[in-house]
Amino acid sequence: RIAYVNGRYVAHADASVHIEDRGYQFADGVYEVCEVARGFIVDMPRHLARLNRSLAELSIAWPVTRNVLPLILREVVNRNHVVNGLVYVQVTRGVASRDFVFPSADTKPALVVTARKADPTAGAKRADSGIAVITVPENRWDRVDIKSVGLLPNVLAKQKAKEAGAQEAWFVDADGTVKEGGSSNAWIVTRDGVLVTRPADHGILRGITRTTMFEVAAKLGLKIEERGFSIAEAKAAREAFISSATTIAMPVVTIDGDPIANGHPGSITLSLRQAFFDIAEKSPA
Ligand code: PMP
Repeated sequence: RIAYVNGRYVAHADASVHIEDRGYQFADGVYEVCEVARGFIVDMPRHLARLNRSLAELSIAWPVTRNVLPLILREVVNRNHVVNGLVYVQVTRGVASRDFVFPSADTKPALVVTARKADPTAGAKRADSGIAVITVPENRWDRVDIKSVGLLPNVLAKQKAKEAGAQEAWFVDADGTVKEGGSSNAWIVTRDGVLVTRPADHGILRGITRTTMFEVAAKLGLKIEERGFSIAEAKAAREAFISSATTIAMPVVTIDGDPIANGHPGSITLSLRQAFFDIAEKSPA
């Protein structure tokens, strides 16, 4: 495998960054994950636009010009012969002697790009059975709209889910409203067939898949309400699902062990999943 690290393509096994990289010391960096499907990078322009926003919010400069990054993504995907899988992009504020305040302006941000293959049938298999989610109290900071590599609460929540035999954890506010998953957005489908997902303010990540799903829903003639929903409403819903670049629309069949409807993947979720690839932007790798 080949990785891109600060201007060079190197063997993945030997790829390294400096011990005083601020990503390593302070989680002072941001990232993106794009799905690669059938040789296309899915929704790359939207991912790069969100990366631009994350960088701007943290006053981290672009490590390369914005036009060059797509070329690097393609190169890493191709050098790794990834036809189905993902490409990962990480930008940190760079290497500097450890100090909380920003380093001098001449410190170069660090850029790492990796890609890896995934079994193209795994998602469909998982969608056939659906996933279990648990709920955990929201314990993250109030700027999770920035896609930072500071993911410790997400790590702990998803580990807790795994130990409970579940595949995702939903962060829930003190008032009982569901925010999002550890690495996905949260949705329900009401008894009337309306899609409900929380507004994308500073309290959740504005998922690229979430954004594209609005277009998929419109194409299928489905209504979307952007509003909060409670755990109780989710458990009583017709369907529930998560969205992310790597899972697309993935049916949720239990929440904290309680089945949604008949405990089987919902038909609306599966039709969104089916239609997604036709609507999403596909950049040839
Ligand atoms: N929320 C969180 C916390 C995430 O980590 C992710 C996945 N990166 C998402 C939502 C879904 O975003 P996307 O659709 O862009 O993958």
